[in-house]
Amino acid sequence: MKTAQQLQSTLQHLDGKSYKAYKDIRGSYAFEGFELSIDQVQGDPFAAPSRVRVRIRNTFPDWAQVNKSRRIALCDYLNRQFSRACRRFSKGNRGSGKSGAVFIAQPGQEILERTAVVLGEDWIEARFRVGLPAFGRRIAGRQAAAIFGEEIPQIVAHSLPFAVQDETILKEHIFTNEDADALRVRLPELGLVVFVADGALLPRASGVDDRPMPGGLPFQSPESLRVEVALPNRTITGMGIPEGITLIVGGGFHGKSTLLRAIELGIYNHIPGDGRSFVVSQPGAAKIRAEDGRYIERVDISPFINNLPGGQSTQQFSTPNASGSTSQAANVMEALEAGATALLIDEDTSATNFMIRDQRMQALIPQQREPITPFVDRIRQLYEEQSVSTVLVLGGSGLYLDAADTVIGMNAYRPEDLTARARSVAQEFPQPRSVETPAAFPTQSRRIPLPESLNAQKGKREKVRAFDTRSIQFGQHDIDLSAVAQLVDNGQLNAVADALLYLRRYLGEATLPEALNRIMQDIEQQGLGVLQKEPHGDYAAFRPLELAAALNRLRGLRVNPREAS
Ligand code: ADP
Ligand code: MG
Repeated sequence: MKTAQQLQSTLQHLDGKSYKAYKDIRGSYAFEGFELSIDQVQGDPFAAPSRVRVRIRNTFPDWAQVNKSRRIALCDYLNRQFSRACRRFSKGNRGSGKSGAVFIAQPGQEILERTAVVLGEDWIEARFRVGLPAFGRRIAGRQAAAIFGEEIPQIVAHSLPFAVQDETILKEHIFTNEDADALRVRLPELGLVVFVADGALLPRASGVDDRPMPGGLPFQSPESLRVEVALPNRTITGMGIPEGITLIVGGGFHGKSTLLRAIELGIYNHIPGDGRSFVVSQPGAAKIRAEDGRYIERVDISPFINNLPGGQSTQQFSTPNASGSTSQAANVMEALEAGATALLIDEDTSATNFMIRDQRMQALIPQQREPITPFVDRIRQLYEEQSVSTVLVLGGSGLYLDAADTVIGMNAYRPEDLTARARSVAQEFPQPRSVETPAAFPTQSRRIPLPESLNAQKGKREKVRAFDTRSIQFGQHDIDLSAVAQLVDNGQLNAVADALLYLRRYLGEATLPEALNRIMQDIEQQGLGVLQKEPHGDYAAFRPLELAAALNRLRGLRVNPREAS
C-alpha cells in the first residue's frame, strides 16, 4: 500500500496534465488513522464523480452493534454524519463540471440498510464520491491535493470515529430502529396490520419536503382501538388497526390520506424526530392505485374484469396501455403474486368503476354488459380466502360499510372508532344493490418470466441506470415507477435496477415468486453487496414487492403462464 504522501506528490505532479492521467491515482493509500482507496476514476470532469472508500478501525462498543437492527441503525447514523461533514468541510464545486464535489449517499427520513457505510469484523467503511478537479480538461492537481490532504481527513475525523459521537443521540437512533423492528415483528401476534403510536406526527412539511409539519396535531388513538406494546427499549401505546377490512372515513381535508400515507411508509423505520418512528406496518403492506397507461404482461385480472368487448382473455391479460380499472386490477393481482399481505387503497388515486357500482348503475348497465366486478364485491373474499387485509380510505361512498370490520372516522385529524355507528347506519340504510360476487377467488396463476426478455442491451453494451426515485433505464426501455408509492430512496432504485440484471440467473424455470425468494435470500445472507460487481455506496434496501413492480412495468417483459396446480 502506498502512503498519503505519495498520493500528494502524484497529484502535484499531475497538475496541468490531461484529465485521463488521473487514472494513475487508482489504488490504496495509508492515511493517519484510516486507509483510503480510489476504486474508480471518472473519465472527464463532467462524468459521475469518482468512487472512493475510507476504512477505519471499528471501536464502537457492543451495544451499538450486537444485532442486525442496531448495526443497520449505526451505519445509517454514520452515513448521515459523513454526509453532514462533507457539507461542512468540503469546499464544494470548483473548476469545471463536478470538480471538487465530495459527497456520499444522502438518506432521507427512513433508516434503511445501505451500502454507503458498512461494518466489517473490526472496521467501518464509508463509500463516497469525489469530483476530481480540473480546469477545462486539465488536471487541477493542487486542488486535488487539498481535497485528499485536508478535506477528506477532516470529514473522516469528524464523522466516523466513536470518540466524536454524541452518545445520547446515537443511542436514540439505534434504539428507535430496534424498537420499530421489534414492533413490526410483533404485529402478527397482536393481530394487527399497522400500529400508529400516540404522539406520532403524520403530516409532512410539504409535498416536496418529507420532514414533519411544524405545529401539526399529534396522533391520539381512540380508546377502543388502543393497544399497549412493550418494546426492547420502551413501552408505547397507540392505535392498532386489526387484520381484516378497515375503512378510514371522514370529511374532506380531515387527514385521511395523510394517515394512509404514513401507513404506506410504515413498512420502513424512521429517524427519531420524524414523527413516524412508531408508525409501523406489516412488511407485506402494499399500496394499490390506478395507473392508466402502464404496461401489463399476461396478468390474471379475471377476479375483477371479465367478458371484455373484444373477447380478449382476462386470465392472461396483456396491454401496452392499461385503463384506470385494468391497471388497478393488475396492481392488485401482481401485489398478491409478489407476496402482499395487506392492500392499502386511497379513493384519491383509485378508479371509481374499479371500486364501486351502485344500484342505479346496475339497473342501467346490466351485469352481462359490464366487465368489471368492483373491488367492493371481492374485498371480503380476499380476506377470508387469501388472508389479505385491506385498509381503505373512502369518504365518498358508503357501499363498503357492509364489508368493513373496523371503521375509523377522521375528524379534524383525530381518529374516532365509528365501527358500531357504521353498523347501525348500514342496517338503517340497507344497500339495494345486488352483490356481484361470482366464484371463489382464483388461486393465483404463477407466471414464469422469460430471462431473454429482460434485455438490457443498448447498442453494444448493457445499459441500466436509475433516475431519481421515479424511473429506471433498462436497455432500450424506461421503466416508469412514478406510481410505485413505496419507493422512497434513490438508493433503492439503484439497487432495484441492478437486481433486475441479477434476477436473470434465477429465471427460466422459476415462477416470479420463486425467483424473488431466491434473490431476497441472497441479499439476506450476503448483504446488498451481492448485487454489485465492485463495492460502491449507491444502494439502499428494497422489498420483493418493489422489485416485482419494476419488472412488471418493463415494456418487453414476456412471461410463460403456468396454471397453478
Ligand atoms: P383528506 O384525505 O381527509 O382529504 P388529507 O390527509 O389530505 O385529508 O389532509 C388535508 C390537509 O391537512 C393536508 O394539507 C395535511 O397536511 C393536513 N393535515 C393532516 N393531518 C394533520 C395533522 N395531524 N395536523 C395538522 N395538519 C394535518
Ligand atoms: Mg384524501
